[in-house]
Amino acid sequence: MDAEPPVVNAMSVDVEDYFHVSVFDGVVPRHRWEQLESRVCVNTDRLLAMFADAGVRATFFVLGGRRKSHKKIVGRIVDAGNELASHGYAHRLVYDQTPTAFREDVRRAKGLLEDAGGTLVGGYRAPSYSVTPRSLWALDILIEEGYWYDASIFPIMHDRYGIPVSARHPYALRRHGGALAEVPASTVRVASWNLPIGGGGYFRIFPYAYTHWGIARVNRVEHRPAVFYLHPWEIDPDQPRLPAGLVSRFRHYRNLAKTEERLRALLRDFRFGPVRDLVLGDAETASAQDTAHAALPYVW
Ligand SMILES: [Zn+2]
Repeated sequence: MDAEPPVVNAMSVDVEDYFHVSVFDGVVPRHRWEQLESRVCVNTDRLLAMFADAGVRATFFVLGGRRKSHKKIVGRIVDAGNELASHGYAHRLVYDQTPTAFREDVRRAKGLLEDAGGTLVGGYRAPSYSVTPRSLWALDILIEEGYWYDASIFPIMHDRYGIPVSARHPYALRRHGGALAEVPASTVRVASWNLPIGGGGYFRIFPYAYTHWGIARVNRVEHRPAVFYLHPWEIDPDQPRLPAGLVSRFRHYRNLAKTEERLRALLRDFRFGPVRDLVLGDAETASAQDTAHAALPYVW
């Protein structure tokens, strides 16, 4: 019997600096961001080089910005054949914003990124997966603002984010204003729990074997692609240390020195492409690919 072709997973990067991270909200006042050493461009360049070595094209969810260096890094992301997507403008949690402020944030980010990259931006991922039961209105605004997929709902239980009963694989949402594909970060189902296996802190804090087991299980048992994510600061063990609480420091700084080597192993062990390939161009196509079901148990 012929072997099945390997599943192509999605590789994604949330492009932000180490001080933008939500666990540091309140530790570093926003007006001080401009004065801190920015390391995002050099770290993103390192990721671009690693992906190029591995022959992988990825999706970069980039914060909108106005600096010259920002425009240049967006250009390098696009020139390497990667997908440019939006991580918003001000890195504020969706559920802490009014709908009006959220609309302005995603509109501004889309405009700046499209100008910088010379390409359309259709994907959005919220800071800290902050589309939750109390901010589902954001999905309607994304449709109205011209986005065609969202990757902000994490189907897990967590203290700051997550909709644990939401669908675990990409699906199409239909709203009165149009359609939107939802692309959740990956989990493995064990008993009645969804375990996060798609990257971020879970990739750094647990041994590499955990992520390998999870992605292999999604690929080989469910025959589905996994959605993986990381941040440029996660491969930067020399980043300046910020004075956060014990839990936040553990979440942010644990195993930074090991992440680059682990990422190289991941790129060797599995196949990856951009997120847009999982939704094949539009939400209608996604729904035709057996992904259409009532995935959100909430009315909004
Ligand atoms: Zn972020």
